[in-house]
Amino acid sequence: MSTSEVDIENSVITVRDFRKKYGAVTAVDGISFNVEQGQIFGLLGPNGAGKTTTLECLEGIRRADGGSLKVLGVDPIREPRHLSSLIGVQLQTSALPPTMTTREAVKFFCAYHGVPARYDLLEHLGLEGKINAQYNQLSTGQQRRLSLVLAIAHNPPVLILDEPTAGLDVGSRTTLHNLMAELKAQGTSILLATHDMAEAEKMADWVAILLHGQIVAAGTPREITAAGSGLTRISVRTEESLLHTSKNDFPAVQQRIIKDDYAVYYSTDPGPTVAALLEFIKNNQDRLVDLRVERPNLEERFLEITTPGAPS
Ligand code: ATP
Repeated sequence: MSTSEVDIENSVITVRDFRKKYGAVTAVDGISFNVEQGQIFGLLGPNGAGKTTTLECLEGIRRADGGSLKVLGVDPIREPRHLSSLIGVQLQTSALPPTMTTREAVKFFCAYHGVPARYDLLEHLGLEGKINAQYNQLSTGQQRRLSLVLAIAHNPPVLILDEPTAGLDVGSRTTLHNLMAELKAQGTSILLATHDMAEAEKMADWVAILLHGQIVAAGTPREITAAGSGLTRISVRTEESLLHTSKNDFPAVQQRIIKDDYAVYYSTDPGPTVAALLEFIKNNQDRLVDLRVERPNLEERFLEITTPGAPS
């Protein structure tokens, strides 16, 4: 049974026929989905697809124009105080007073939620050395990590994250992913809006792709990827770039594009394609610099779905 369609009993977040306009702009055009307990649900979509609008309506920051949104049965607009104990939300950077210290921020947020100050979480996110630093003395990545500490300090059953890894270095990104996995193992449900397809593929149990305010694909990352064209991407870079101007008559190739220094081929059968490409390079006295063969992944599928003219 599809997670996003019917299983309301287990549903922690329930969105039904949700609509939102800003003046003449339709930001979200009647979407429905469920997030179940202990699930990481990835909300994907290009810029302007309606992801943040959806999250903000679930957080009670904005009011929906139609349909219904519930978090553990709570209407975000009608019961904001109750909602705040149920959800953890990462603040936007610059949301805290610039001279507030890390210690003060943790103390303040935990007092608001009526829980003991969770300074231990600072260590978990590599901020223990910054406990006396002012907010304006933290780097952007450190500010984002602090906002995550503040989001989870009251141990909310639902976490709503809007591009949590944007601006994080590789180490912090891994730390965040490990933390998300730990929270999920403890039963926390996570709604994650992200542009990072590798992150969605790795972390999400279920994803929905939004395009122009509508859900155009939903399923596990594996299901979504499998529903695509199944073309393998072969990227070739050579010293003389002779492939850029050659005839595109290599076997099993459906499409070729030129991207930066690479000739990129989409193939239904990579073996013969690669063999023919290598033969061409040898016969024309060019030299291979780089060759990458990539099976279809979520990013490929996402581009197929969201980019007009992409191979399908
Ligand atoms: P991004 O990936 O760029 O963050 P998004 O998927 O989060 O995009 P939204 O921020 O929800 O998209 O925006 C959806 C649409 O609503 C866009 O067309 C955007 O221009 C419009 N929009 C968002 N906020 C406002 C606002 N406050 N006033 C008017 N239009 C808005």
